[in-house]
Amino acid sequence: MKGAAVFNQQQAFGHLSMLMNSPAKRLAGKVTIVTGGARGIGAAIATLFSQHGAHVIVADLLEDLGSSLAETIGGRFIRCDVSMESDVEAAVKLAFRWKGRLDVMVNNAGIAGPDGSITSLEMCQLKATLDVNLNGVVHGIKYAARAMVEAGRGGSIICTASSAALMGGLGSHSYTLSKEAIIGVARSCACELGVHGIRVNCVSPHGVPTDILVNAFRELPGREEITAEEVGKVIAERGSLLKGRCGSVADAAAAALFLASDESGFVTGHNLVVDGGFTSGVNTMSYIYHDKTQ
Ligand code: NAD
Repeated sequence: MKGAAVFNQQQAFGHLSMLMNSPAKRLAGKVTIVTGGARGIGAAIATLFSQHGAHVIVADLLEDLGSSLAETIGGRFIRCDVSMESDVEAAVKLAFRWKGRLDVMVNNAGIAGPDGSITSLEMCQLKATLDVNLNGVVHGIKYAARAMVEAGRGGSIICTASSAALMGGLGSHSYTLSKEAIIGVARSCACELGVHGIRVNCVSPHGVPTDILVNAFRELPGREEITAEEVGKVIAERGSLLKGRCGSVADAAAAALFLASDESGFVTGHNLVVDGGFTSGVNTMSYIYHDKTQ
């Protein structure tokens, strides 16, 4: 895009540090679990939440990355495969052993699922994607809600969905199915749990050049070597209504911070879309407005 400054990862971390340095501790004393918290969006959420005073448990498959992040932010790490109900239950139990409570559950872990045509979809691959992306979220809601209801203090449950839940063609069939289902189950649980003061919301990021997205680009013919920076440029040019701006981990983390904090105390059953307007409309007709807005 002509003249557009690409919002790169350096700027993204600048944005993250601005949020971190914001004086008010918006999650002071809140005990939080972040699944898929070892890297990418989950790591940004864990870091930002701890900067805002939360005690964070990083629950992930990646032991080295997860435990080193947990150490850095003064949190805890637990090896957790979200597709395994008992692993998620163990993460919730750790919160109670460690701090005696759970206030915020972020069901963020996710995988891309198999590429390819619906005509050759292996059902076992679909099941494997749903096991992580959908069952993993359901496990998180189930055990967090059970503990929060019992404690009687309310809580906030946040599930990472995706722009792919709102629009076809942004991910594999399995991924798209899993992400739309997350929004459905979150809404359904919000209906049940509101009476206990438990809010259930989704964040739907779009176009954040983390491993999941960069690896998806690398599956495309001729893009095997594409870098995160280059993916960011593609998103900024074609995947966002905001000039030269792709999504960042900080954007997604800021949305999760809002939904975790008391500032969103009257928000439940909501899907907070963080997509630079991409799923709201096309910018191919922007010449119509050009003379009026330039
Ligand atoms: P990422 O690949 O960097 O992070 C995913 C994390 O989930 C990793 O730490 C990984 O180890 C963990 N994980 C995967 N399977 C797991 C399992 N079975 N149990 C526990 N942890 C597991 O990608 P990301 O962009 O940070 O993705 C985070 C979430 O955001 C995912 O749910 C993804 O679908 C969603 N999302 C990402 C984008 C984007 O553009 N990056 C857009 C929309 C939604």
